[in-house]
Amino acid sequence: MKKAISDIDPAWLEGRTAVVRADFNVPLDDGRVSDDHRLRASLPTLDLLTAAGARVVLLSHLGRPDGPSPELSLAPVATRLTELLGRPVQFIGELDAGKVAAAVAHLPAASIGLLENTRFLAGDAENDPALAASWADLGDIFVNDAFGVAHRAHASTAGLAEAMMARGGEAVAGLLMAKELLFLEDALLEPERPFTGILGGAKISGKIGVISALLGRVDRLLIGGAMANTFFMAMGLDTGSSLVEEDSLDLAKSLMEQGGERLVLPVDCVVTHELREGAEARTVERSEVAQDDKIVDIGPRTRAMFAEAIGGSKSILWNGPMGVFEIDPFAEGTIAIAWAVAAACDRGALGVIGGGDSGAAVERAGVADRVTHVSTGGGASIKLLAGAKMPGLDSLTEKG
Ligand code: ADP
Ligand code: MG
Repeated sequence: MKKAISDIDPAWLEGRTAVVRADFNVPLDDGRVSDDHRLRASLPTLDLLTAAGARVVLLSHLGRPDGPSPELSLAPVATRLTELLGRPVQFIGELDAGKVAAAVAHLPAASIGLLENTRFLAGDAENDPALAASWADLGDIFVNDAFGVAHRAHASTAGLAEAMMARGGEAVAGLLMAKELLFLEDALLEPERPFTGILGGAKISGKIGVISALLGRVDRLLIGGAMANTFFMAMGLDTGSSLVEEDSLDLAKSLMEQGGERLVLPVDCVVTHELREGAEARTVERSEVAQDDKIVDIGPRTRAMFAEAIGGSKSILWNGPMGVFEIDPFAEGTIAIAWAVAAACDRGALGVIGGGDSGAAVERAGVADRVTHVSTGGGASIKLLAGAKMPGLDSLTEKG
């Protein structure tokens, strides 16, 4: 169990400086933050620290710049955070370590300063120890609240944690990070049963680790999306012009063997000839897919079958949409699953959503507030569920 900022005595925080790594990798449009979910998700940690009287030095990456590039500056994030917090967030645009330290030294007590995009410095992605040490020197404690990059070992994540510990400070999880762990690990480790996993999305190759890790823990694993197509082909069914990963057929066969009856595939599907709004769509049995058909969603019988399994579950973990939900007529399966998960949560089930597109689908279905937890980390949640190494977490101080 990792130590969290809520385990630190607030009296200790007063007058000290916390270096906080957040995940402010948000979309920008015309110099403004166009989706502030990730900023809002960081507010509890910032409120806790400032209420305790700590100064906060915030770090984040944004996009994948090769060096300084003005269009990926974090300045608009400081503006939006100022609005959200109702207190000024001072933007520190310097990159030179000495100038950054001087600017931080001028921050008033209990105020917040945001440094420029960490990836403007090549040393971040290279996990340069000197860069990590220069950030650690800015404060007394490191708080990692960037769950979205917990699977990476960068100077601003794992490197900074190690550097802070090397100078005698602690490295702890922020409130968002702690919440992600509580739900994503709880759902995996000791779930109330029945435990149902739902997997979909475009590819199985990126999610092999999750499929086999989940098959070992769930009572049922419902598979939809393009992921199901590869299983269909492995079963010898015709998949027409659907998206299939032919390199993964053997893998699909072995997963079917490993899963036996626990692995549940769609029985019918929605097919179309064209991936566009307004295209004609038909429902067919999975054995009736024609040559120029593309499978784009699960069919109504599958929706009912999946919804029933979800309705009878005490724990549910969902990653990956059931169809091409970005296009309205192909979104019905995904929306039906979102509603089924929300209804199960209304009755007391634990429902956890991981994955970027799945999170967007739950928002779109209007049920984000009814499910127990929608993870803010796309790739990171998949990695965690698959049991992969998480340097951003592993580097934090152990509790107790
Ligand atoms: P997440 O981000 O939740 O992990 P993925 O990125 O794995 O999900 O998958 C999301 C994508 O999968 C969406 O863009 C969706 O259009 C696509 N997808 C789902 N079902 C199909 C399908 N049957 N054919 C083609 N693409 C699909
Ligand atoms: Mg995705």
